[in-house]
Amino acid sequence: MGNDGGSIPDRRDLVRNKPKAEALDKANHTRARWGFCALSKRRLQEPVVSCALGKLYNKDAIIEFLLDRDAYGDGQNICGHIRTLKDVLTLTLTSNPAPVTPNTDPLDRPQFVCPLTLKEMNGATPFVYLRTCGCVFSVAGLTGLRSSPSEGDREEKETCPQCAAKYTHSLDCLPINPSAEEEERLREQLSAQRLLEPVKKSKKRKAAAAADSAGEQPPVKKVATATIATASNSLRSTLAMEEAKRKAGMSDAVRSLYSAKDSTRKETFMTMGTFTRYA
Ligand SMILES: [Zn+2]
Repeated sequence: MGNDGGSIPDRRDLVRNKPKAEALDKANHTRARWGFCALSKRRLQEPVVSCALGKLYNKDAIIEFLLDRDAYGDGQNICGHIRTLKDVLTLTLTSNPAPVTPNTDPLDRPQFVCPLTLKEMNGATPFVYLRTCGCVFSVAGLTGLRSSPSEGDREEKETCPQCAAKYTHSLDCLPINPSAEEEERLREQLSAQRLLEPVKKSKKRKAAAAADSAGEQPPVKKVATATIATASNSLRSTLAMEEAKRKAGMSDAVRSLYSAKDSTRKETFMTMGTFTRYA
């Protein structure tokens, strides 16, 4: 087939099992995303944390990554957006109460369920976590509890059905392992938030620039000048003190040699040069 001039092979001839392989890939991918740490690829083990993009990680892997950002080869690609532990939230997960059947691979058994519907967290149904408390629910379970989903800008706070913490549905409900498009949206949202952050930090510099343009010296310069003035003052006083000490330490006799013009002194030749201090 092909290359003999008789026929042109197309994709279907070359990849016969494509759909089957794709389905298998997708299943593996889903299983990996929902049962394993996105960073270390180890089985999820509590404490489990999630980031602003809704990925699941073992907390120890994230700590390892934060201590050494090269600890995992592709760590920067997976969670480069995590800068400190403040960028992740520890999740409150509900263990799967279903009995372990001896014939199934324990790795295939979903570890966690929705506490409201007991639906397994395996990627088949969408799940969310609350940014305020970290509780994890299936979307169906959580929305089922909401009596009247309020719309518009006057959204009322709701109560977490598991821990009673207050949350705002539109702001604090984050999808776990969202679709690619949803993840892209969250990523954009995150970078928009991050853009706002440095403004707070550069306040001092801004204030200095404003003072400078107003014809004043920025506070930093003032401090520097003051320090130099203080230093030279203290140096001067130290020198003066040294001089005074030197003079005080000088005996009368020695001093008398330097002030020989003192005609009023009462010393005789015999007493001159002895250390008789005037009493
Ligand atoms: Zn909660």
